[in-house]
Amino acid sequence: MKKPKLRSPSGMHDILPEDQPHFQKIEKTCESIAGFYNFQKIETPILEEAELFSKGVGVSTDIVEKQMYTFRTKGGDFLALRPEGTAPVVRAYLEHGMYNLPQPVKLWYFGPFFRYERPQAGRFRQFWQFGFEIFGEQSSVIDIQIIQIFYNILKELKFKDLIIEINSIGDRQCRAYYKKLLVSYFRSRESSLCLDCRRRLRENPLRILDCKEEKCRRIISQAPQIIDHLCEECNSHFKEVLEFLDELELPYRLNPYLVRGLDYYTKTVFEIFDQSLALQSPEEKEQGQISPALVGGGRFDLLVKLLGGRDTPACGGAGGVDRIVQSMKARSIKFTAKVPTHLIFLAQLGALSKKKSLTLFEKFRKAGLPIAESFGKDSLKTQLGRADKIGVRYCLILGQREALEGTVIVRDMKTGKQETVKIEKIVEEMKKRFRK
Ligand code: AMP
Repeated sequence: MKKPKLRSPSGMHDILPEDQPHFQKIEKTCESIAGFYNFQKIETPILEEAELFSKGVGVSTDIVEKQMYTFRTKGGDFLALRPEGTAPVVRAYLEHGMYNLPQPVKLWYFGPFFRYERPQAGRFRQFWQFGFEIFGEQSSVIDIQIIQIFYNILKELKFKDLIIEINSIGDRQCRAYYKKLLVSYFRSRESSLCLDCRRRLRENPLRILDCKEEKCRRIISQAPQIIDHLCEECNSHFKEVLEFLDELELPYRLNPYLVRGLDYYTKTVFEIFDQSLALQSPEEKEQGQISPALVGGGRFDLLVKLLGGRDTPACGGAGGVDRIVQSMKARSIKFTAKVPTHLIFLAQLGALSKKKSLTLFEKFRKAGLPIAESFGKDSLKTQLGRADKIGVRYCLILGQREALEGTVIVRDMKTGKQETVKIEKIVEEMKKRFRK
């Protein structure tokens, strides 16, 4: 057959039945970890006012500047498909007065997000994320709990070779000073920077630090580092985070160039990588294959206030489900779907028995006994063949005669023995046999 003309939109993909076990496994793992650490689930709309993101994520970030799907509704609202989860959760925290609850408030989510990015391996325009956010807690213990949660989720998903990259980007005070240092350092080398970085120098100089261009990397490697310029409070907060990481024996590496693409972060920022993927071949790296961060996050002490609330320290992060699934597949981590094992098959022959079979089938569902069928097929041979393939223990046969007499034949597929049972008794009878 020719390839169909209609395909899914560029950068957006179907999650096919064979991918579902991975997705389900990830969601179940999040759910169980969330339960343990006492997080409650929240779901926010797919659409939000675009202003939420321009205000919250920052106008000069890639996400807002280039990657948002926005449109004006018939009523005149300017909406965006959500590109990330933190700003919507903050909006909900404020809208529903969660600041009046005992703090910290701990929330988690799982859902699709949208960014108009150049599609490539591991980078989609619709992708799924799970996120964990904690509001109303200043202590560095919270940063660690967030990192630990994501680390634990990936461990539960059988990732063996994880590394946490961590940095502090300071708070409003120390970052402002550091930005000045950085701007004056890069300004004197501006002509050697790539075009994007020259623009960043004016709009968002911190972002130069994670430029991937070779010529910029050389200049960046000599640039002043923020950890040498943190104020006292940020410095001791970061020290505590590192001490906790040591205490918990979590594998980490300081990355002075980690700034992350969103404006709202303060103090701790982190990403978690699968090192076995980081070790991919140079050709794969060259082709920009899978950018391997599976999880990213950090503290965002200014965001709640920025969006209209009181000063509320907070910390959180998000993991990329599609990327985690890809990486699980690349390393042949398999999860089998939990499909009910069918031990009974219902075969029917003739119009009346088909009708009766439909009612009988529903009785089995209500009784909680999984039962398979092939109602679309009329030949008994085909139906029995299917029953055999599934490997059921019993086949119930409802032929013309049985339909008239109100009985069912029970065929034991192991011994080949058959007996007749009254149709009203058959559910009870089968229950009894499986209870034994
Ligand atoms: P971010 O919201 O950019 O901090 O990303 C958090 C995590 O979401 C990343 O580490 C990725 O695993 C995942 N992610 C972000 N953007 C994409 C995308 N375009 N396609 C697939 N996964 C993504």
